[in-house]
This record gives sequence, C-alpha cells and structure tokens, in this order.
Amino acid sequence: MSTQKFATKALHAGHDVNQNGGTRAVPIYQSTAYVFNDADHAANLFALAETGHIYTRINNPTNGILEERLSALEGGIAAVVTASGTAAISTTLLTLLKAGDHIVASNSLYGGTYNLLSVTLPRHGVTTTFVDPSDPENFEKAAQENTRTFFIESLGNPKLDILDIEAISKHAKTYKVPLIVDNTVATPYLLNPISYGANIVIHSLTKYINGNGTALGGVIIDAGTFDWTNGKFPEFTEPSAGYHGLVYSDALEAAAFIAKVRIEGLRDYGGALSPFNAFQIIQGLETLELRIKKHSENALELAKWLQEQPEVNWVNYPGLETSPYKHLAKKYLSEGQSGIVTFGVKGGYESAKKIADTTKLFSLLANIGDTKSLIIHPASTTHQQLSDEAQESTGVTKDLIRLSVGIENIDDLKEDLKSAFEVIKKTVLA
Ligand SMILES: *Cc1c(COP(=O)(O)O)cnc(C)c1O
Repeated sequence: MSTQKFATKALHAGHDVNQNGGTRAVPIYQSTAYVFNDADHAANLFALAETGHIYTRINNPTNGILEERLSALEGGIAAVVTASGTAAISTTLLTLLKAGDHIVASNSLYGGTYNLLSVTLPRHGVTTTFVDPSDPENFEKAAQENTRTFFIESLGNPKLDILDIEAISKHAKTYKVPLIVDNTVATPYLLNPISYGANIVIHSLTKYINGNGTALGGVIIDAGTFDWTNGKFPEFTEPSAGYHGLVYSDALEAAAFIAKVRIEGLRDYGGALSPFNAFQIIQGLETLELRIKKHSENALELAKWLQEQPEVNWVNYPGLETSPYKHLAKKYLSEGQSGIVTFGVKGGYESAKKIADTTKLFSLLANIGDTKSLIIHPASTTHQQLSDEAQESTGVTKDLIRLSVGIENIDDLKEDLKSAFEVIKKTVLA
C-alpha cells in the first residue's frame, strides 16, 4: 500500500508518465478497439492468459487510470468505472444476484436507487426489504434465507442520516453477505467505508468527484475482503457458462467479484464509461480535497446562519450541534460533513416552492455536488411520484428545501437566500 496522502494520490495514482508518452496530463484514449500483435496475442487476451486491451466496453487506458486512482483513494484492490452512478449500482446488483435473491436495504436512499430496488428489480425476481438503518440490528432481523446483500448509503440523500457502517458490517459478516455502500455524498476524502468493513463501495462520479456538472459517471470498487466461497455464491465457485467454464474464485481469488463485473457485467449489460467523460472526471478528481473542504465549510456556516433566520423552522446538517447524527459525524465524518443542507420554512409547501423559484445564485435543478450552488424542493419535484408514506421514510417533508452548497463566497449565498425570504414574507407569509 502506498503511504502517500489523499491529495497526492488524487493527482498521481494510476498515471505513469513514462508509459503514456510523457504526457503530464492523463491522455484521452478515444479508441473503441485495440490492434493485437498477432492471432496468438488476441487468443491469449480473450483467454485472460495475458492482460491488455480488447474493446473499450471492457476496458480502456484512460478509464483504467481513473479506476486505479479511485481504488487507491478508497483503499480497494481494484475498480470498474461505469456510464453513471446508476449503471454502477445496477451492474453490481445484476452481477451479484439472480432471480429469487433478496436484498436488505436502508430506507433512506437516492430516489433512483429506491425505484430500482422497489419496482424494477422485483420484475426480474429480485426483492428488497427496506429497513430503518438507525438500528443496525434491523438488517439482520430482515435477512432471509435467500438474502444475498445489504445495501446502504453512508450519508443518506436527502435525509442526511449518517449510517453506522461498522455496526452494519458486523451484521453482514454474521449473515455472510457482502455490504455494499454508496459513498457518493460523503466522497472518499471524508470517508472510506472499506476501513469500517464495507465489501463493495459505489460512487456516482457525476457529483462531487467530477464536481463541475459536466459528465456522468460511476464506479464500483472492490475491497477484496469478501469470501465468495462461503456457499452462498455458486456463480463464483462453479464453472461459469458465461466465460468458458472459468471458476472465478479459483482463477481470480480476492478479485473474483470485480473481475466478473468487468468481463461479464460490462460485456453483457454494456454500461461502459466514455473515455472522454473519464478525462473530465479525472480533471475534477485532482481538486476533490480542496473543493470538499470548501463545500463543507460553506455548508456548515450557511446551516448555522439559517438557524438564526425567522422564516426558517428547522435546519438539518450533520455538522450542527443540534443534529441527531452529531455523534456519528464525529466518528465517520470528522474532517467535514459535505455540502448538502436541508431546512424547513414557515408557510410549508407553498413557501418552499416559492423560495426554490426565487433564488438566483442557487440554481433550481435536480443534481448535487456541483461547484455552483443548487436548490430543489423535493416534494414537488424529485420525490413527487412517491406516496406520502414513502416521502416520509425518505425524510422528505412538504416544507423541505435541499441545498447543495457550492464554493462561492458565503456572503453572496446568504444574500441570495435572504432575498428569497423577503419575497415569501411579502407573498405566502403576508
Ligand atoms: C446521483 C446519485 C446516484 C446516481 O448517479 P447518476 O450518476 O446520476 O446515475 C446514486 N446514488 C447517489 C447517492 C446519488 O446522489
């Protein structure tokens, strides 16, 4: 393991300038396929007897540098990048599970993930039980004979609940299933789930890691710590019909899962990342530490300021003294709590909608993790299709406004919100 610190790895890991023509920046290898030396070389590559490149849906040199860098930053053994965070989640689950299998998941999940687990995967015979993650025992209580994974987000969006990864990972270990952690909101700078027992870490690279709102991407990182030979995963211990009888756990040992993600998951489901997007994401990743420190600093200051505003009923940010997750923030997010802040306004649904409609610096859109500040009213947008009950469990109340606090000057951000509060005072609250 390298002893280099985060900022150094974020700039250098995976890129050997001598191997890439001396280019100081990571070059874009915008090629779909690679010329083989001869027919034997080609046969060896397909047989996995030699490593190399065949076709960009499976691997690519630019993507490979991003994979090595992200794996180094999370403390994994290897990674696979994908077309989006959603592709990372679906490719992981489709590689791991089959019809008849079951997932236990936290009930505070990104909306798209919640839909995948609650509506789409059941159509393919994979079901999920959602549990309140604030009591880690709930995961084992909900586990069934056919349960094959526990799925959580380290810092739930938009509930901003911090999960006790270490405690949940102990239950996953007892139950002999891998723990998958979506670490998108926390980012690898603030939190490394693998050091608390996560077996697979997923990110949407679209958010803080790219950070500029210019490219979709995702990654799957394998800790290499799960025992696939424990009897619950025959796809890894029996000859694979999908790869001429390859026994993944014998041939690839600790890397069995991530190898299967690449050579069967990417090959068959096709969610590969464009090398151009990988290049964009690499530019962002170089400054992740600087940006996430500023996002966290701005978010904390804005959250404290919001608590003092007469139009505001409540503020949720894991860095506040009043946060119910303060003790978990100390353990898991001691360097900062990222850039998402939620708050409730007087006047409920109408006020919240009006504020989202009125701010100028805070752009009204459905994304997070951009350098520019963003705002949304989930009850009328991202969570509109959910039932009242489902809204409640994902932490979305009618009066809730979600901010993704950018890295602008904090005074300008306060001024923008203040102007919006003046407008609701004269309209909805008048
Ligand atoms: C955005 C997001 C995703 C999905 O990522 P895309 O890149 O938009 O597909 C998954 N999980 C979390 C926590 C997210 O915020």
